[in-house]
Amino acid sequence: MRPDDYAEMAKGLDRVADVPDEVLADLVTRDGLCFWVFDRSEMPQLTGENTPDRELAARLCAGCPVIDECLELELRQAGETTVGVWGALADTDRRAVYRFWRWRRRSHGSRGDER
Ligand code: SF4
Repeated sequence: MRPDDYAEMAKGLDRVADVPDEVLADLVTRDGLCFWVFDRSEMPQLTGENTPDRELAARLCAGCPVIDECLELELRQAGETTVGVWGALADTDRRAVYRFWRWRRRSHGSRGDER
């Protein structure tokens, strides 16, 4: 992925910027594919350091209806210490998105709106 891809992903999260953490958590645990299709605790531990994690993220999260909500919640709660697969991304990619996400929130307020 290129920096522009990460920036676009961060921008796409603006629509959930004002959603409270508890609401995001409820949505993700209720509707997230990995929470009701299989048990996340049985998944192998992922390092996020290699390409297979990207492939796993793409396969695991394909068709999940709450990808943005999942990614937003993980960026808020774990930030750069994020590990594993969340929001259809491996952690290396999520850390790259985080830098743009953090800049948007600090520069434009909670919603990241262009002003
Ligand atoms: S985006 Fe992926 S990790 Fe997040 S809830 Fe959906 S399937 Fe699970």
